[in-house]
Amino acid sequence: MRPAPQSASGDGPGLSAAASGLDHLPIFLQLRATPVAVVGGGQVAERKIKLLLRVGAHVTVIAPRLCETLAARAAAGSLTHRAEAFAPEQLEGMRLVIAATDRTEVNAAVSAAARARAIPVNVVDDAGLSSCYFPAIIDRAPLIVAVGSGGQAPVLARWVREQIEALLPATLGSLARFIGERRRRVQRALAPGVRAAFWERIVRGAAATHILMGDAHGARGEFERELHAAQLSGARRIGEVYLIGAGPGDPDLLTLRALQLLQQADVILYDRLVPEAILERARRDARRVFVGKDSTCEPRRTHIDQAQIEELMVRLACSGERVARLKGGDPFVFGRGGEEIHALARHGIPFIIVPGITAALAAAAAAAIPLTQRTIAQSLTFVTGHALDEQTLDWAALARPHQTVVFYMGVAHLEHICARLGAAGAQPILPAALIERATLPGQRVVRGTLASIAALAREARITPPALLLVGEVAALGTEATAAEGPVDLDRHLDNPLVPAEDTSEH
Ligand code: SAH
Repeated sequence: MRPAPQSASGDGPGLSAAASGLDHLPIFLQLRATPVAVVGGGQVAERKIKLLLRVGAHVTVIAPRLCETLAARAAAGSLTHRAEAFAPEQLEGMRLVIAATDRTEVNAAVSAAARARAIPVNVVDDAGLSSCYFPAIIDRAPLIVAVGSGGQAPVLARWVREQIEALLPATLGSLARFIGERRRRVQRALAPGVRAAFWERIVRGAAATHILMGDAHGARGEFERELHAAQLSGARRIGEVYLIGAGPGDPDLLTLRALQLLQQADVILYDRLVPEAILERARRDARRVFVGKDSTCEPRRTHIDQAQIEELMVRLACSGERVARLKGGDPFVFGRGGEEIHALARHGIPFIIVPGITAALAAAAAAAIPLTQRTIAQSLTFVTGHALDEQTLDWAALARPHQTVVFYMGVAHLEHICARLGAAGAQPILPAALIERATLPGQRVVRGTLASIAALAREARITPPALLLVGEVAALGTEATAAEGPVDLDRHLDNPLVPAEDTSEH
């Protein structure tokens, strides 16, 4: 609890405020066409003025001089400028006063004059002189989140704002408008007792997710379906599926949308590549179902097969659940995402696809290996190293210089892959790197050449998940954290593409 403002008498926190710890009433002010005074004409004043103009206030700026941009606004007629020193009478008729001068005595005089006239006053950065203050806001108009600390810890309030901001989809405002436009209709169509549950389904369900994705047409369809279902009691509700790329494993590499949908889902279907740290970002009460196909991340020993996963997804969604199907990396890079959406579409189940950072990108970043580099690598290929015998890869194309080739699921076939590239014409000295558990605890990078990498991997006991990266760029990388053998400093220092300071960390 902060002390009562010194310049004010009798408006300090009362007993009940002290008891509750709440000493400001959060309130949203309608200021359209309302006279507001801002004392001060600098950049600090301008920040507040911008906000006041956005809400349609009639702003009078009291300051002998204005900064350039404020002067331009005054010239354009968007505010009134009184080019005078501050005098208390200037506040007559004002509904809100902001003091933003760099002189404490002027700010104090403004505060006293405003209080004497019972006008709420904010002195920028001075909670003691203020009777109200500006919260940190998240603007999803018409939906607004305001975070305040009683003027005591603005930086903390801004930090909290950022935390919340990340969780709120950018399009929440459209959702608020969508709902606003339909309120009356729902009021007429549904009995009061069922309305709240109906809106709950809209806000948490497929209609909202369509708005989130910018698909107003789809949202209208879902809304009509829900309304129809609510009118015919007992009608079947359908859920939805979020096909989410969970990235390479580090939870900080989830996208904001992945996080938002994870927090919305009732059930989480996840596989081996998704670590606990990511599952913890889901709603606490969400059910988790492991649908990993094997224990090695290489699709060999299969416990639950693809058809069973698809069947489970369909069954859950048909019973009205919101299902998050979490996949390592990106769902459409060796993730069988295509088959899953096909199954969903066949059953008319709405779905959303959220791209994720695929392992190759994460591994490259982890090892500081650029995947493309002018003159060295002009194209990039992702190849599955799994089931090599059955597929018809164009080895001659993969063996050509000036490109980067990344093999997924290749650990078990390293020797074979390197031999095939060599036989197709790749140089034995072609640089190669193996990145194990990219972005996960215990991440390792092994560097070598086409001729040596398989033996080095065996020696280091590299196990899945790991990626093999082949190409001239593999010689460029260096990373601070990986537990790798000694780096050949001479080679790096000779190489003009590697900044010298990078090597000094080793
Ligand atoms: N959809 C995933 C790939 C699934 S295939 C994606 O886009 O990343 C599984 C293979 O991905 C593993 O065998 C391994 O080669 C690679 N992989 C996945 N996560 C990895 C990680 N954190 N580090 C290294 N390789 C990884």
